[in-house]
Amino acid sequence: MIVHGGAGALPPARRADHAEGCLRAARAGVAVLGAGGSALDATQRAVEVLEDDPRFNAGRGACLTRDGEVELDAAIADGAGPRYGGVCALPPFAHPIAVARAVLEANGHVLYAAHGAREFALRHGFEALSSSALITEAALARWRAVQAGEAEAGWPGGTVGAVAFDGRHLAAATSTGGMMNKHPGRVGDSPIPGAGTVADDAAGAASLTGHGERILQLSLGAWIVAALERGDDPMAVAEAAIARLAARVDGTGGVVLLDRRGRPGWAHNTPSMSRAWVSLDGQEASGA
Ligand code: ASP
Repeated sequence: MIVHGGAGALPPARRADHAEGCLRAARAGVAVLGAGGSALDATQRAVEVLEDDPRFNAGRGACLTRDGEVELDAAIADGAGPRYGGVCALPPFAHPIAVARAVLEANGHVLYAAHGAREFALRHGFEALSSSALITEAALARWRAVQAGEAEAGWPGGTVGAVAFDGRHLAAATSTGGMMNKHPGRVGDSPIPGAGTVADDAAGAASLTGHGERILQLSLGAWIVAALERGDDPMAVAEAAIARLAARVDGTGGVVLLDRRGRPGWAHNTPSMSRAWVSLDGQEASGA
């Protein structure tokens, strides 16, 4: 399993802390796999741990819109099928990724937005929260600074994502508050199939992070899946994807991925991207 906590510009002093957050989430995901859970269950669990963690821009700790509200994007992809479930511009819920999973399991529509996404979540037993339940002091301070005209130098506590292989199937999950001070209704790459979250057992699976508009312009997730389907080396695919993001649309971001055999790859062209990799036999690596 491989997890990221967002591409951005984390101050060096906070990088170890964010890497530890990713490692904790990856371990939680691998524990699900160890108990016989599926790749889908494991990615959902890892992302829920990060949504609960106020250091990351997902769930609690998410970015605010221009109007000071919380609007959440999340998606989960099942390599078997492949199947997909997503929510975008979702009003506050503790675990948007769990709502995305319910969308996937409902097996009807693939993506719900805003008011309709909220209705879907309520109908499936999720509890709506007020924005204040998810807004942290740190997010609020940053929002105030951006509103006051301070340049957004890269939200340091980024989007979260996880990719897992359970020996049979692949899955990927991504959850985010998007970009600080975003226009209400703005949707990034994270919940869009073929952009920020992709999984296909015949190829590989990936979760992306970074400047969502740029990732969307390239349908970068679909490009990654095509490269993995050819059997390209997973680390080389990650590096080529981020090189393409920079070369074609001057984009910044990062990716974590697994190929169809579960071999990991990751890359970023931002100053930092917290991440962790944990295998079922107890090997671990993390960084930021
Ligand atoms: N990709 C996310 C978005 O554009 C943001 C991020 O990864 O930090 O919504």
